[in-house]
Amino acid sequence: MAIAILITILLAGLGVLVGVAAAVGAVKFVKSYGQKKKAEPKEFIRVGPSEMRECSGCGKNRIIVGKTENLCAPCYSAMRTKRLD
Ligand SMILES: [Zn+2]
Repeated sequence: MAIAILITILLAGLGVLVGVAAAVGAVKFVKSYGQKKKAEPKEFIRVGPSEMRECSGCGKNRIIVGKTENLCAPCYSAMRTKRLD
């Protein structure tokens, strides 16, 4: 009898552990999935219709981001960070 009760308790404990692990795993998956979805648009800076031109910063034919300054994305961001400093 004692062994039967012990096995029942062990099985119940195992069931709880598996349930908790599955719940934690599901939450982590949903969180990471949501973060990936949110993180994606940040990488693409929308600047409207882009055009290829000779950048006045590096002189290379690149997509112009700063239209008033005629700068490509690396030069434009470098210029902006310099201004902030
Ligand atoms: Zn440039």
